[in-house]
Amino acid sequence: MEIKKILKENRFCLSFEVFPPKREGNLENLFATIGELSTFDPDFISVTYGAGGSTRDKTLEIASKVKNDFNREVLGHLTCVEATRDDIARTLDAFQERNIENILALRGDPPTGQEKFTPTPGGFAFANDLVEFIHRKWPFCIGVAGYPEGHPEAASLDDDLKNLKKKVDAGADFIVTQLFFNNEFFFRFRDRVRAMKIQVPILPGLWPILNYNQIKRIVGLCGATIPSGLGEKLDRVMDRAEEVEKYGLDHAVRQAEELIRNGVDGLHIYCMNRSEPVRAILGAVSIPKGKADTPGTAKPGRIQS
Ligand SMILES: Cc1cc2nc3c(=O)[nH]c(=O)nc-3n(C[C@H](O)[C@H](O)[C@H](O)COP(=O)(O)OP(=O)(O)OC[C@H]3O[C@@H](n4cnc5c(N)ncnc54)[C@H](O)[C@@H]3O)c2cc1C
Repeated sequence: MEIKKILKENRFCLSFEVFPPKREGNLENLFATIGELSTFDPDFISVTYGAGGSTRDKTLEIASKVKNDFNREVLGHLTCVEATRDDIARTLDAFQERNIENILALRGDPPTGQEKFTPTPGGFAFANDLVEFIHRKWPFCIGVAGYPEGHPEAASLDDDLKNLKKKVDAGADFIVTQLFFNNEFFFRFRDRVRAMKIQVPILPGLWPILNYNQIKRIVGLCGATIPSGLGEKLDRVMDRAEEVEKYGLDHAVRQAEELIRNGVDGLHIYCMNRSEPVRAILGAVSIPKGKADTPGTAKPGRIQS
């Protein structure tokens, strides 16, 4: 089923993101995790697209397994990195042959060792070009990335939002956001997106912090900020993995509760190929059946630390 149809129904959209494991043997573990994740009845599971050739094939394999064996809706990610139009067309055909109906169309990050994204000759420079390409020839429902704190390469959030509008105008059906740890960024982003008359649903990306070094690396790459109170707590317990996880999950739960109170279209949980964090969050948060009646202005009492 197309995700845009799920989002049109008056129900809250719950989704999880997994990534292809680097080691071959870990694929079976991932499939076991997907089985566990399925018990939480997600509306879809998304599968990231890696930088290298072999993990890209795994994206297709995993997405196909989610759709055709687990009978769950799937969102296959696709980037423009080191790919010509013909390469991308072949990958899209392969997704279609596997009954996959939803694509997250991304530009992608520069490959390791390169500072700037350089389009492959015969490929695409920006995600809006990819969206247009897909929209013209394939019947996929298309998602795109949004950045509540702005994309790190963008000169300003305004510029970034104008570029987000190009993706939607090119045919994107919904937006999934980058991780953020202060809901204020998301609420402001949503207000500004709506003020620009971008009406497609926005799924906030919720990242439960589970590992100190990993999150330091990720925020360094994607430009998201950790609120100072949470950052100080994490710094104090950085060598005690269980406590890092406890603070991280506690924050994710409070973030999720506040997002739900403020009428979000759904929650997209970056679950890092683990089911326990999802179980912990869903055990503590009451997921609404339907969408809030009046999504929009945020209520006070937002999480800052
Ligand atoms: C939900 C989500 C899932 C992701 N999944 C993956 C994944 O599976 N694999 C992976 O490798 N990466 C993934 N990423 C990371 C993503 O590839 C990077 O953030 C990348 O740097 C930007 O991709 P984009 O599609 O947002 O690019 P774009 O929308 O093209 O934006 C990139 C930059 O260019 C600017 N820009 C955009 N369009 C134009 C234009 N027409 N003219 C001038 N400037 C423009 C933007 O403001 C921004 O600064 C994901 C990110 C998110 C938020």
